[in-house]
Amino acid sequence: MAGYDLAVRGGQVATGFGTTRCDIGVKDGRIVAIAERITDAARAIEADGLLVLPGGVDSHCHIEEPQPGGGANEETFATASAAAFAGGTTSVVCFIPQWKGHGVWERYVDYRARAARGMLDHSFHQIISDPTDAVMEQEVPRVVAEGVRSLKVFLTYEPLHLDDAQYLRVLTKARELGCLVTVHCENYAAINWRTAELLKHGMAAPKYHAWARPPVVEREATHRAIALAELVDQPIQVFHVSCAEAAEEIARAQARGVKVWGETCPQYVTLTAADIDRPGFEGAKFMCSPAPRTREEHARIWEMIRRGTLDVISSDHCAFSYEGDRGKRQNGADAVFRDIPNGIPGFAARLPIIFSEGVSKGRISLDDFVRLTSTNPARLMGLAPRKGMIAVGADADLALWDPAKKVTLTNALMQHAVDYTPYEGMEVTGWPVATIRRGEVVMRDGKVQAEPGTGRFLPRGPYDLIRPRGITPDGFDPAPPPAVR
Ligand SMILES: [Zn+2]
Repeated sequence: MAGYDLAVRGGQVATGFGTTRCDIGVKDGRIVAIAERITDAARAIEADGLLVLPGGVDSHCHIEEPQPGGGANEETFATASAAAFAGGTTSVVCFIPQWKGHGVWERYVDYRARAARGMLDHSFHQIISDPTDAVMEQEVPRVVAEGVRSLKVFLTYEPLHLDDAQYLRVLTKARELGCLVTVHCENYAAINWRTAELLKHGMAAPKYHAWARPPVVEREATHRAIALAELVDQPIQVFHVSCAEAAEEIARAQARGVKVWGETCPQYVTLTAADIDRPGFEGAKFMCSPAPRTREEHARIWEMIRRGTLDVISSDHCAFSYEGDRGKRQNGADAVFRDIPNGIPGFAARLPIIFSEGVSKGRISLDDFVRLTSTNPARLMGLAPRKGMIAVGADADLALWDPAKKVTLTNALMQHAVDYTPYEGMEVTGWPVATIRRGEVVMRDGKVQAEPGTGRFLPRGPYDLIRPRGITPDGFDPAPPPAVR
């Protein structure tokens, strides 16, 4: 009987901390050996000429989120899984919604069942939009005990945003429970004010979505999010940083030792205000929040990535079709920007774009790429070393990558549920030729071959990286975290 179920042989194995030519032995879905030569395997995949990367970890993506009135967004866990595998991603952290006036436990149970129908290994952030006594004291602790170890808050968006007092309450509870808080940082009142003024002046086309939310509203909210987290002594991750002035707020806090991390996304190094200003209604295809910026800003974001200020690159996949009754045009092709669904698809495009724009163009190293797209998100979310690493004992999640392959991105290649990609026609160098999830080849040459219902829930226990520092102003700590977790 063979010693291994699978051997991946002869590839350049990139661990994020160096690359060596070696073989990987897999047994029962886990990496059990890394050696110069492995021969004793039931099945072998020859990876000569390919990079062997840890499967991508996408720690910010929206999949099949149910809506208050029934229905859910277009991307189901099955279609999202296909899209993720097509792009070399094997694990995700997505969002359990909370609707104002509702609890979270029922949503958790429903969302677990939805996610179980897909093929991706998955964990969740719990969105908090209504932090009432019942929700925060009874339901959230229950959800956290199930292994949902991050709470997501929005400082903007009409049905979701928290005011400062509510945000402080979430921070305090997260500290008590040992959770990370992830934050969408834009100023709610400022965007509303500017939106009303723009519409009053008849400036309603998609491009004015960006005018309603310039970098200053992101910078202000980033500063405030960090300041309040520092006051409470609660670690946070700032989501989807789009501009240097917001990233500078993170860098300053990091220099003080504050536990704040910054994430960015492929759209903030590729899409621009010119895209959202394409003729007719076409600009709607590029509408996301924060809004696409400028080429100059892209260069600054790369600089903040190189400095380590931004250390995670997620997709923020949030897919709406262009056509159809759930699409961008659901309120008509002359809808004002305020009434156009906000978000863009990006699952399959994430790794190829960052590899191509980053590694192939010499902006970052291969080690940086692996850490930004897999190891760092896994570590920050408490999924490592099971995910995000090529190491003995880790799940055998791998992307076999052809670094020289040139591909023109098309919607068909993305394999998601929606009818467009904002990256249509973009040329990339570097492409995944196979994706392996827990030792099973789930994508080969673009063909996804995984059974629905095989994705696993990844419960997250307490972990050290997000432990509060124990530093508060004047030493006054109204709610100390448990001493030992
Ligand atoms: Zn998002």
